[in-house]
Amino acid sequence: MPLYYRLEGRMQGGKAFIVLQLSGEVVLTCQRCLGDVACQLDSQSRLLLVPEGEDLPDDELTVYDEDYREEDDFDPIHASRNLDVLELVEDELLLSLPLSPMHEECSVPTGEWLEGPASPFAALGKLQKS
Ligand SMILES: [Zn+2]
Repeated sequence: MPLYYRLEGRMQGGKAFIVLQLSGEVVLTCQRCLGDVACQLDSQSRLLLVPEGEDLPDDELTVYDEDYREEDDFDPIHASRNLDVLELVEDELLLSLPLSPMHEECSVPTGEWLEGPASPFAALGKLQKS
């Protein structure tokens, strides 16, 4: 099952941002029946590139986004020449996965055990008759 990601650089207010978009489908384990459950992913996050040697600003920063006309969260990271893109994607993937994936309705066969072998008392009754 393919997972798509898209990285886009953007300058804004003299700062460099990376916009990371993720979409696709992942198969997780249902927390109720332990079967496979497919989850749709569709997330977008913004990363602020901070020059190496400078302190990262607080995590909870927001900036006014001129494109979206709204306040938007972003995560600051240190820029480097060898930016590990896959690591970024992996982090974003982990953040966007549901914590407890579940089917809307589990389709596990149930009730089979209700018609299991007869109770030992039934066998005992037979013995007493013979
Ligand atoms: Zn289930």
